[in-house]
Amino acid sequence: MRIQRTDSRRLKLSYTGQRRKICRFCENKADYIDYKEDRLLRRFVNDRGKIIPRRVSGNCAKHQRQLTKAIKRARQLGMIAYTPEVFD
Ligand SMILES: [Zn+2]
Repeated sequence: MRIQRTDSRRLKLSYTGQRRKICRFCENKADYIDYKEDRLLRRFVNDRGKIIPRRVSGNCAKHQRQLTKAIKRARQLGMIAYTPEVFD
């Protein structure tokens, strides 16, 4: 019996029409992300309290690192929830 292989490497991923996102912290020339700015940090956390990945938010590596640190710091101080507050 022959095993048929599918060449997955040949699959082309087409990302045409998708514009490259720019990091909003680079745009504002921010060199430090403040953990006290909970309103800003909340925008990078989804409704389940998870940090939005870089591929979605469009942040650069440098700022994403700073952002995760700021979010984790803010969580410990109770400014951002670890989990959603309402349970249905
Ligand atoms: Zn950046």
